[in-house]
Parts: sequence; structure tokens; C-alpha cells
Amino acid sequence: MIRREDIAAVRESSRIEDIVGEHVTLRTAGMDSLKGLCPFHDERTPSFHVRPSVGMWHCFGCGEGGDIISFVQRINHMSFTEAVEMLAQKVGITLHYEEGGKHTRTEEPGKRQRLLDAHRVAEEFYQAQLASPEAHAGRTFLAQRGFTQEMCQHFGVGYSPQSWDALTKHLRSRGFTDAEIQAAGLASQGNRGLYDRFRGRLMWPIRDITGATVGFGARRLDDSDKDSPKYLNTPETAIYKKSQVLYGLDLAKKAIAADRKVVIVEGYTDVMAAHVAGVPYAVATCGTAFGSEHVKIVRRLLGDVADPAAGVVLSSGRARGGEVIFTFDGDAAGQKAALRAFHEDQNFASQTFVAVEKSGMDPCDLRLARGDQAVKALVESRIPLFEFVIRSVIDHVDLRTMEGRVSALRQCAPVVAGIKDQALRREYTRELAGWLGMVPSGLLSGALCPAGQRQWIGGVGVSPREAGRCRGWEWVLLALIWPTLGALGRRLARLPGRVRPRDLVTRVERQA
Ligand SMILES: [Zn+2]
Repeated sequence: MIRREDIAAVRESSRIEDIVGEHVTLRTAGMDSLKGLCPFHDERTPSFHVRPSVGMWHCFGCGEGGDIISFVQRINHMSFTEAVEMLAQKVGITLHYEEGGKHTRTEEPGKRQRLLDAHRVAEEFYQAQLASPEAHAGRTFLAQRGFTQEMCQHFGVGYSPQSWDALTKHLRSRGFTDAEIQAAGLASQGNRGLYDRFRGRLMWPIRDITGATVGFGARRLDDSDKDSPKYLNTPETAIYKKSQVLYGLDLAKKAIAADRKVVIVEGYTDVMAAHVAGVPYAVATCGTAFGSEHVKIVRRLLGDVADPAAGVVLSSGRARGGEVIFTFDGDAAGQKAALRAFHEDQNFASQTFVAVEKSGMDPCDLRLARGDQAVKALVESRIPLFEFVIRSVIDHVDLRTMEGRVSALRQCAPVVAGIKDQALRREYTRELAGWLGMVPSGLLSGALCPAGQRQWIGGVGVSPREAGRCRGWEWVLLALIWPTLGALGRRLARLPGRVRPRDLVTRVERQA
């Protein structure tokens, strides 16, 4: 057990606003009060309050609250002891342990800290190895991608020697047990004992939001070696969860909070290139797709997104609120990733933008070929996610033919229908009609409803009264994607399988 006086000292010496501020962007909310988005429940309006003078936090949304130790416990999934140990290390207090107490520990004391320590030692080891003769290929790789030694040091890039146990031996010599080395994911158990997980690779330390290294991303240097994966990451451990880490976040978080922008790139060298080029809010996922846990982390840093106008403003392309910008290749994989983000979270989607480099270069290649300015320009060229998704459908069909237009409409309608924000959906309906070359509102209403006659819209018979509500293709589109319009809407909503090209174009052309 940690001595009570020590726990009190840790509580008093830690600044709660700094510790909480590492995870949540806090803004002043009156005397001795700061607020931000709650990290413990999903919200768009800040109800999470911190009171520095008393060292307490409380969320009016979910009712959670407590002191700095409980915050650290909950945010890091730590035991009480681990939380105190982590805070003590930050403020430089030496803890004293007492025997006794009725607490039964689920984990041995300080296990998390031991794993973090092992990573710190491993990171230093790998960095030192980057200067060794053996790491020549690694240094060449970095230099060819335009990174100076100084830049590599800033990101802590290192090299794992081509040896079965160089790191394991080093960690043992520094007092780590085999069990700890294995639990850290730095070595695996083989027939003849432990062997290093990473061998002959360039090493990027992956840090949590507080800057502590929790894992590594590693790239193969010998591309003729097809037996081993090009990229290899730390496996899931007690301190490394790939769904919750973003490479570069420790370096980017200040810029993300200040500029209210985050750029998601695809690789370690892309994060480096972006930061060096003047896009300091770039991060990357580590061996996994951008998922819901990442969304939560990013949203907490972007801060208050309760602005009702947050997201896309179509006419100017400018956005209110925070911006999340993905740089995807224009290829199918990139589009899939965009669509996944689209389904992930609607509020998030409306703040999401996509920047596509036409020639398919990633930020690292782009910086090499055309310099820092080109990387910045790429980020600037972002378009709203919804527009990106719709346009990538339209780009693949021939809009000069009826079949092409119908095919595009069929594919795009579900996308537009998936936009939950009514005003935004209406805007996109209009835009889609325009992109598809369909006639905007108004044109058809008179022509379609001669008195008393049953009309056919898109293959569905409608009464004159219903037809009277029809205001051209915009309306047809709207009906297709907006089943809530009523009975007619519902019938039209079942259309996609029944729309024939001539249903959609002949009347327009007759009008023209
Ligand atoms: Zn809450």
C-alpha cells in the first residue's frame, strides 16, 4: 500500500487542469471553472467541468465525477495504485509503500509503469542503434524520403538490429523480467526462450496522448524479404490498444486543439512529412482503420462542436466548427475508408473532409516531389466527405447517357438518403440533381398534372393531387431518398429497382 501522506501529496501537487487537458480541450467557463467534452460519455455540448482550485471534476451529462486520481484511473483504465504511481512520477514525488491493508490487488503493483519503463528503455535502445553501421539501409531510407537526422530524432525514429535477442538481452540487463518483456509485446516466447519481436526494421515509437511510448510501428527494410510483413506493430497489450492510439497525437494535440483541425494520413512517414511541411495537426492510425474510438479521441480534442452550423457550408466549401480532414488515395481502398467514416458517425461525417491527391501520391511522396507547399495545398484542397462520396460514384459513370444518369442516381440516392441533417440533405439533393444534369425545381410541375388525369412518375402511378406536389427532378430525387414524404414518397422510395431511363429523362427532354 502507498503511504497515505504520499497519496495526499500527489493529489495536491498535480494540476488537474493539466492532466485532464491532455485528453480534453478545456475552455474557461467562469470563475474557477473549465469545461470541455466529457471523455466518459458521448456528447456534442460540453458538460464536463473541472474546478482547479478544489482539484475536482464533474460531468453534468453522465453524473460522473471525482478527483484527479479517479480521473486518471478511469481515462487510462488503471488501478488506484497505478494512477497514483503515474501522477507521482509526473510531479516527481517518491512514493513509500507500507505493508498491510485489506486490498487485494488484481495486478501486481505498478505493472503498467513497468511496461512503460520497458518501452522507454527499448526506445532509447532503438534510437542508439540507428547510428550503428548495420542501420545504414535504415538511414538511407529516411534520407531518401527527405528526413534529416534532426527530424528523425524529433519523432524518436530508431532501428531494431537484425538479431534474435539484442533487445531482450538489453532489457534483462536493465532488470526487466522475461514475463515483463513478453507482456510489453517486445519479445515472443519461442522454443529456445524469448526472441525479439522486431528485427532489422526501422522503428517508430507510438506514444499515447500524454507522450508516453506504449508501442512501436516497424517497417521492413529488405523489400526482397517477402516472408515478413512490410509493417509490423506492437500486438495488443495492457498498454497498447490499436483502436485507441493515433500515431503523432502527442505532437499534434496542441495544434489540433488550437486550430480545431486534424488531418488523418496513412503512415508514419506521412505524419512526419506533414508536420515538417507545416501541417502540425496530422496523425495516423496504427495498423487499423480509423474507427469509433479514434472518433471519440479526436472529437474531445477538437472541443465544442455544438455549433448548429458545424460542418459543411456548400456554396463556399468552408466549414464551421472543427474539421477532420482525411487524405486518401483516390483509389477504391480510400473510398471505402471514406464510406466507413460516413457510416461511423453522422455528426462527425458533416465535419469531415477529404483531400485527394490526383496523381495518387501520399504526403511523404508529395513533399519529396513538390515540396512543403504542395502538402499544405493538398490539405487546403479538401472537399466535404458527402461530396467526395457522391462524386466518386459520378466519376465512374457516363453522364451523357440515360443509363449512366440512372445508374449514378441509384448509387447516390442511398448516400444522400443517409444524411440525417435535413437541411444538409436538401442541399445535397439539389447539388446531386445539378451534378447529374437533371433539371432543377419548378420546370415540370405544370406539365405533369393536367387536370384529373393519373400521372406516372418514375413508373409509379400517382393521383393528380400527388402529382401537383411534384416539383421536378429535385422532388423525384427527394422522394426517392426521403421515404418520410408520405404515401407517395414511400411508393417512390421503393423505386430504385423500377426506375427506367425514360422515366427519368423523357419528360425533361420533352420540356426542353
Ligand atoms: Zn459525462
